[in-house]
Amino acid sequence: MGHTSQGDLSSPNVESKKLSGSPSVPSIFQKCIDFYAPDSLYQSVKQAGLYPYFRPIEKQDGTRAIIHGREIIMAGSNNYLGLMSDPRVKKAASDAIERYGTGCTGSRFLNGTLDLHIELESRLARFMDVEACVLFSTGYMTNQGVLQAMARRGDIIFSDKDNHACIVAGTQVSLADTWRYRHNDIEQLRMLLTRAKNDRPAAGLFIVSDGVFSMSGTIAKIPDLVDLAEEFGAALMLDDAHAIGVIGEGGKGSASHFGVSDRVHLTTGTFSKSFASLGGFCLGSHDVIGYIRHSSNTHIYSASMPPANVATVLACLDILEAEPERVNRLWTISDYMRDGFRNLGFNVWNSQTPIIPVVAGDMQTCFLMWRDLLEEGVFVNAVVPPAVPPGQSLLRTSYMATHTNEDLDYILDAFARVGKIHGILQNNGSPG
Ligand code: PMP
Repeated sequence: MGHTSQGDLSSPNVESKKLSGSPSVPSIFQKCIDFYAPDSLYQSVKQAGLYPYFRPIEKQDGTRAIIHGREIIMAGSNNYLGLMSDPRVKKAASDAIERYGTGCTGSRFLNGTLDLHIELESRLARFMDVEACVLFSTGYMTNQGVLQAMARRGDIIFSDKDNHACIVAGTQVSLADTWRYRHNDIEQLRMLLTRAKNDRPAAGLFIVSDGVFSMSGTIAKIPDLVDLAEEFGAALMLDDAHAIGVIGEGGKGSASHFGVSDRVHLTTGTFSKSFASLGGFCLGSHDVIGYIRHSSNTHIYSASMPPANVATVLACLDILEAEPERVNRLWTISDYMRDGFRNLGFNVWNSQTPIIPVVAGDMQTCFLMWRDLLEEGVFVNAVVPPAVPPGQSLLRTSYMATHTNEDLDYILDAFARVGKIHGILQNNGSPG
């Protein structure tokens, strides 16, 4: 749900007369007053009891969580390998706190480099079979910081229109120009690259794409991207936030899924999903990663990953390497759920991963279904415009290797009941 914020529910046209013009309220705050105005979209959704965001989770353990005192099945986390509550992982985290304390209080550049950071960088580089790795404190900061460091004035970034918000942030921070291409539209990308070569021959070219798209669960057309990058002399960066630990041989990500890992220049990602922690990374050649280390603002000017977070990732890597069957289980689950939803008559777009969107249509139906699913004991994420196109509001479901077959059937049954109530499915299970 990284793209959606309260702001999406705001209604900029709603006029709140109450405080506007008051000398004590700077005009720059007017939008905030409008956001909470009695007739705003936010208030209407909130008052209808349909506001699905910022729900406090009171306890979580594996596939179960407690929300509002009730146990639910978690079908909306990115804990793909189910390692967040693994006793080995929890022990590694608490051991690290014992040894290093709770935080680093400074950036990698100055006083925030632990031997653990160096160990994780080399472990991850080895796991992914690349020369080098640099850590960041979040996945968001990784993409923002790498684009800022690598794409400079006079260069051109080619960015898929469905790329994650932090890639968009990176293109805004970078002094390079950004040319966006339609989602997965390789022909349009080719046309833009051709134009760049003709009109801006001196520009450095940088193609950037999510490896797995976070809302649709589709995989980028990576074989085409590597071909184009080579043909035009462009650098290619993939954001594998939802791919490492999920797809590819042994969970080695989206390029590995297509057998083209050695043709991708930079791979970024996060530790907040399969690796059950918080932090980010960029993988690439020795020189490029060393340069990023010395020129990326989000790396240099922000405190480093806390010790427990690093130790968590190291423990998860151990488990991923020792238990590759977790990745296989995730794939079995994804196929089962995709087929299950389709057989019921739901539209799951063309999901190819454990991210399975279930289209609800308009925002109101989406919120109603979200509420009723929670009543049924199933937690999913409500995703509404602008994170998805208008009329395509959806319930983003995502799975863990540790979900049982019974969990999966329970989730499908709950969706069938709720889908019928809201007219998404007719009573015979076909589309409404
Ligand atoms: N990239 C993608 C594709 C993501 O989905 C996310 C998180 N939702 C991020 C990057 C950012 O990762 P983090 O949560 O670690 O900041």
